[in-house]
Amino acid sequence: MTFKKCTSCNAPLADEGWTDFVCPECGEMIYRCYRCRQQSLPYVCKKCGFRGP
Ligand SMILES: [Zn+2]
Ligand SMILES: [Zn+2]
Repeated sequence: MTFKKCTSCNAPLADEGWTDFVCPECGEMIYRCYRCRQQSLPYVCKKCGFRGP
């Protein structure tokens, strides 16, 4: 059994409140946990290196 992981902090997305969306640059899936959403931490796409809030 595997959990998706937060793209920003790598925490497993076991709890509710996380979100996912696609990278505007390459379409890769981006995952953000509740905590990173709350703090508005930036993410970096693993695939293309795009940075976004
Ligand atoms: Zn996170
Ligand atoms: Zn990307």
